[in-house]
Amino acid sequence: MWVVQIDLAGSGGDEREKRMARNAATVAAEIKTEQSGVLAPGDVLLEARALRKVYGSGDSAITVLDSIDLSVRAGEMIAIVGPSGSGKSTLLHLLAALDTPTSGTVYFEKKTLEAYREEAVAEFRNRRIGFVWQRHHLLPDFTAAENVAMPLLMRDTSLDSGLEMAGRWLQEVGLESRTQHRAAQLSGGEQQRVAIARALVGGPSLLLADEPTGDLDERNASAIMDLIERLHHTHQLTSILATHNPVLAKRCDRILRLEHGVLRPDAADQQAPSSAVEGEKS
Ligand code: ADP
Ligand code: MG
Repeated sequence: MWVVQIDLAGSGGDEREKRMARNAATVAAEIKTEQSGVLAPGDVLLEARALRKVYGSGDSAITVLDSIDLSVRAGEMIAIVGPSGSGKSTLLHLLAALDTPTSGTVYFEKKTLEAYREEAVAEFRNRRIGFVWQRHHLLPDFTAAENVAMPLLMRDTSLDSGLEMAGRWLQEVGLESRTQHRAAQLSGGEQQRVAIARALVGGPSLLLADEPTGDLDERNASAIMDLIERLHHTHQLTSILATHNPVLAKRCDRILRLEHGVLRPDAADQQAPSSAVEGEKS
């Protein structure tokens, strides 16, 4: 898991750090150039074509995703629903370039994710994608502020600036009184807020959240839902949420159901506009 790979003590070696910093600057410049001309509001931000994921091989091969086609426009908030084991997490990991498909292609701003290699793909994720893991994956012995600052510290941001920015984000998610608490000392709902702040601190375009309310009671789930919806709008995000929560799903612009390896508009999603049908070309 990429977030925990940071070496706060810097014992990874000066050379490696310098290389990472140079790489970050190069990728950031490249992204800035791309953003300035490629994407207009409402354009397709993220696209998957004929995405297929098979785990294992031979007799034990499992085809989790068979042929996934998906077009997500900038600013959309999409719910992905489906039974446990249907491949929701697998799909989010492919969309975040955390895993590679068996075949098929993911495009981000019309550029295939395969174009990003090794460290560049880590930089791409760090800058463009906010990922909220189902079990939040916070570092239990680090403070809330340190956890939130992690994605910035992986860049060339200083510890002081990173923690200052983290403090602002903790305020934004309503946890300003918890900045110095260790993650392990926080409640489930508070940990999820920290995870959301960490996902967004770096200013990504795309928020991917894997069952963000899955482990929470109804009251906390509702508060997290409100928070995600508010942040989606105030930070002009494009958001994809895997969820079992029908109330959360209904608050999204459209609902897609993942079943038997295929993604389709959900039959219960009465408000899905006709343009939401997958397979459309931009
Ligand atoms: P969901 O998030 O919808 O519950 P997952 O994407 O976690 O579904 O899993 C889909 C299927 O893929 C499950 O049958 C799961 O056991 C299998 N699976 C997930 N990850 C792996 C892996 N790394 N190796 C083998 N099988 C896996
Ligand atoms: Mg899952």
